[in-house]
Amino acid sequence: DASVFSGDYAYYNQEMNAHVADRLYLETDLRKALELQQFFLLYQPKFAIATGEFLSVEALVRWQHPERGMVSPADFIQIAEDTGLIIELGNWVLHSACRQARIWQDAGIAPFLIGVNVSAREFSDALPGKVATALKVYGIAPQWLQLEITESMLMQGAEEVIRIMNQLVALGIGLALDDFGTGYSSLSYLKRFPVATLKIDQSFVHGIPSDSNDCAIASAIIVMAHQLNLEVVAEGVETIEQFEFLGEAGCNQAQGYLLSQPVSAEKIASLYLGK
Ligand code: C2E
Ligand code: CA
Ligand code: CA
Ligand code: CA
Repeated sequence: DASVFSGDYAYYNQEMNAHVADRLYLETDLRKALELQQFFLLYQPKFAIATGEFLSVEALVRWQHPERGMVSPADFIQIAEDTGLIIELGNWVLHSACRQARIWQDAGIAPFLIGVNVSAREFSDALPGKVATALKVYGIAPQWLQLEITESMLMQGAEEVIRIMNQLVALGIGLALDDFGTGYSSLSYLKRFPVATLKIDQSFVHGIPSDSNDCAIASAIIVMAHQLNLEVVAEGVETIEQFEFLGEAGCNQAQGYLLSQPVSAEKIASLYLGK
């Protein structure tokens, strides 16, 4: 029925225009957000599964928009990548995380690892120099910084990616492979990349323990990662059943709402560091 189709089409078009307009507004606002200091970081802790010990944190960016309220990174990281703003934003995140590490250390807290997410577009020849600068400015030893890069990044121009990764590792920082299992890299391919840590993607963790495929995939990743001497972190752990399953499967660390949401730097200090 053509009339129904045209009706749907008109509706679709209207929706699409709204979407495009929305994106344009976000894009314009995003350009101003850095100078208006609308970004801030939250920190989500990671724990040793065997002991429950607090080990490290992952920095996660948030955008406090004056009218929209809190905008999720899911809604602006892609735009920042498409427009190239991610370069500036990424550098801001790096500096903010290192500045926070300095604040914690100045408060008498023993240093611990901080993970920072890095987008594919940030992964250029300029990155190692920027990382070295941020560490130097705040006097942070490289061993306390870990960059989380996505598995999908490995697919694009492997040789160049490996070269940059080696430069980063030569600085003394660590690399983690984020969202592991969602790309197409085999574990043998992994050997070529200087990563120390794998983060099992939360989409697999989600199905544990009821989905036997997710259980099998998570267990297989853990076993093979350990054969390659990699530390394994499960992300998105929401239930005690998932936590226990992962522990029995030999997973080293867990991160997720069961343990803690992403929280402020002050909360990290008071909840886990006795300050
Ligand atoms: P990601 O790096 O995979 O981070 C994990 C996401 O899962 C975070 O969402 C975190 O808040 C959320 N999460 C943590 N525990 C649970 C859980 O138990 N259940 C569920 N359902 N979710 C959980 P967030 O903070 O909204 O970030 C989304 C994505 O945005 C990140 O995924 C990362 O890819 C990107 N992102 C965040 N901050 C930055 C940043 O500073 N730079 C870059 N380049 N990307 C970032
Ligand atoms: Ca991450
Ligand atoms: Ca992830
Ligand atoms: Ca993710």
